[in-house]
Parts: sequence; structure tokens; C-alpha cells
Amino acid sequence: MKADIGIIGGSGFYSLLENAKEIDADTVYGRPSGRISVGRIEGKSVAFLPRHGSRHSIPPHKVPYRANIQALYDLGVRRIIATNATGSLNPKFKVGQIVAFDQFANFTNGRVDTFFEDRVAHVGMAEPYCSELRSIATKAAKRKSLDFRDRGSVLVINGPRFSTRAESLFFSRQGFDLINMTQYPEAALARERCMCYLALGIVTDYDVGLEGRKDIKPVSHSEVVATFSKNIGKVKWLVGEMVKGTPEARKCSCQNALDGATVKV
Ligand SMILES: [Zn+2]
Repeated sequence: MKADIGIIGGSGFYSLLENAKEIDADTVYGRPSGRISVGRIEGKSVAFLPRHGSRHSIPPHKVPYRANIQALYDLGVRRIIATNATGSLNPKFKVGQIVAFDQFANFTNGRVDTFFEDRVAHVGMAEPYCSELRSIATKAAKRKSLDFRDRGSVLVINGPRFSTRAESLFFSRQGFDLINMTQYPEAALARERCMCYLALGIVTDYDVGLEGRKDIKPVSHSEVVATFSKNIGKVKWLVGEMVKGTPEARKCSCQNALDGATVKV
């Protein structure tokens, strides 16, 4: 079975697929988070992988990121649209908004984060997200007048705990817009496999609060789940439109990510 486009996210995306079949994938890096559903959206072959498993039981620091990316790659996927919940560290990024990330900063630890362990390869990561997918998402969001931001920097923490007030204040004062637990190493691994990758974050909370706003309570998991569920319909629509609007050939530079990354001796 083959697929062109991969979707990584919560279980809500399964319903986008027509004639879906489930696959038990296995890779040289082990098994992915869960069974992969392969079906069609507007004639395009699409694979959906639930990042936290089909019963949402795998915490962010235990997600088998390498197996997930490799399993999609093995199916033929060369473009990935990812979705996730994200906290806001910047009052301009409001709860309910959808943000296409444009930068990440890695504050995780202990995660296996590269495919290159037996050869030297330094992959460029200056622009970690796909420009072509961003432009497709932005145009679709404008058509529907979605509350959408086409850029935002995301700081990735290890979790599973949320931040302390001191950490959150530190991160926001460094100028990061958003905070999340799963963007790293997912985005980096996709780039190492020369895949296009764009992540859409749903802003679910203001982390531990905003300076000067005592009425905003620190984030709780139940709040994240409730806000995510409330906004998932918009994201599903956007992902569907992105799949429809994706041309067959890639014009972006993602496919050339390994050019110049290795030195031949
Ligand atoms: Zn690309």
C-alpha cells in the first residue's frame, strides 16, 4: 500500500479518509505509535497516524518519533501535515487560533532525534518547515477567514509536566510565541528524510498565565483537551483543503535537504 501525503495528529482526522484501510507497520526503528490508516481524500492517497496511539496512551516523551516518520516514509509519503495542541507565550497568539509554526527551539532531553547514527550528516534546519505547504495552508485559511497565523516560533519542552511560572516567564521573555511537547524531534526527523513537513498548532491555553492578567489561570490538561476539541473542526477542514490544494510535484527545497549535508571521503 502507498500514500503520498501523511497526517500526524489526534484521532479526529480518521474521518477525513474515504475507504480507509488500517496497516500494522513495522520499521527498522520499531513500530509507530499506532496503526496507520490509508485512504483517499479527493482522489489523493493519504496516510493518517495517531501520534499518541489509537487510545491516546503514549506521552510526548515516549512517542516513537523515528518509527513514525520512517513508517510514513516507507509508505511513500513525502509530505506531512501535522497537528497539535500548543500553549501561548505571547498575548498576540490567542486561544482558539490556528498557527502554522515557522521555527522551533528544542528544550527536550533524552529523545533519540536523528536517523544519522552511523554516518556523519549535518542537515540544515534554518527553515525547518515547508514553505510550499505553508503557502497552501495560508491561502486556504484566508478563503474561509479562519483565525489563522502563518508564522509563530514554538519552544518544545520535554513534558509530560507543564512549566513552572519561572520557566514560562523565562521562555516568553526570550521572545518565543508558543510552547509544545511534540514538535521536536518530529519536524527535524522529517527534514532528515527530505520530507515536506508543516505543523498546525491549535492554541489551547496561555501556559501559566500572562503578565498582569491575574484572571488567566495556569494551564490544565482538561482545558487543553476541551479547547482542542472545540477547534478541531476548523483544523480538519484546513487539513482537507491542504490535501486538495497540494500539487503532485514538489517545488520547495525540502527534497534537497541532504545536498551538501555529508562530506564524501
Ligand atoms: Zn517542502
